[in-house]
Amino acid sequence: MPPQPLAFFRGEFLPLADAKVGIATHALHYGTAVFEGIRANWNEDDSTLYIFRPREHYERLLRGCQILRMDIPYSVDDLCRLSAELVERSGYHDDLYIRPLAFKSTERVANLKLHELDAELTIMTVPLGAYLDVEAVARCCTSSWRRMEDTMIPTGLKISGLYVNSILAKTEAVLAGFDEAILLNQDGHVAEGSGENIFMVQDGRLFTPPITDNVLPGITRDTIMKMAKSELGIETEERSIRRSELYLADEVFMTGTAAHLTPVGEIDNMKIGSGAWGPIATELRSLYFDVIRGRNAKYLDWCMPVRAKVSA
Ligand code: PMP
Repeated sequence: MPPQPLAFFRGEFLPLADAKVGIATHALHYGTAVFEGIRANWNEDDSTLYIFRPREHYERLLRGCQILRMDIPYSVDDLCRLSAELVERSGYHDDLYIRPLAFKSTERVANLKLHELDAELTIMTVPLGAYLDVEAVARCCTSSWRRMEDTMIPTGLKISGLYVNSILAKTEAVLAGFDEAILLNQDGHVAEGSGENIFMVQDGRLFTPPITDNVLPGITRDTIMKMAKSELGIETEERSIRRSELYLADEVFMTGTAAHLTPVGEIDNMKIGSGAWGPIATELRSLYFDVIRGRNAKYLDWCMPVRAKVSA
């Protein structure tokens, strides 16, 4: 069979196009779902796909299920195993995106009581190359939209309804000719990109906003912080960042599963540092790309290998 996007849906592995829900599904109306974005990275040298940090992604997903009162009959281990099987069955020899989604599946509208609604879990996988251009520097704008507050919808989880905020910001930025939006929080501090965390380098020091500034606790953020410490000897300082500090930084870069590590060359038409790849972003990126493709023995614990089928 040729490679194809697949879904694990209602206990079966199906072509993605055959996995369907009814239009009265609660999550479709109200965003009552929680999702993850995981990458499986293709390594040509050993014909293996490496799923990167699936445990951490599924731990975050299950925290979201807890908040949305969803009983999902799968453990983190089960979800990792199902993802590996899905990747293997899909037959791709290419970078893949794995999208688990736990959703309120009851087909009933006009009910806002989480405890009365059933939940289901599906996982799908599709090919995904670069999300932002991985060689270029990004041109960003400060969004006119503010990042949601944890007092409105929990911001530390990938709750579907929360993403209308990111989508409004990203759309506004792209239609205005930028690559990405930077959202401030209600206090006016820098929060994050529409789908990425943000870092700033100043005088050799590395800064990123704390989780309490309503940013997603990104798994790439955590990866970069750990690698900066162990490989470059740089401890990341988590503290609130003002917009003007970004303008004056030596380097700014964004991190996320889809976006990898992307340097920011311009914000609001102001050049950041030299406007090109900075030394710290360059070094971290090359380490990061080796790590996510299973090429760095020290970090193999973060990678779940899935051998490619010989036939594809
Ligand atoms: N912030 C937001 C709003 C995101 O959607 C993402 C992507 N999941 C990130 C940050 C980065 O998180 P991670 O590194 O876990 O992909």
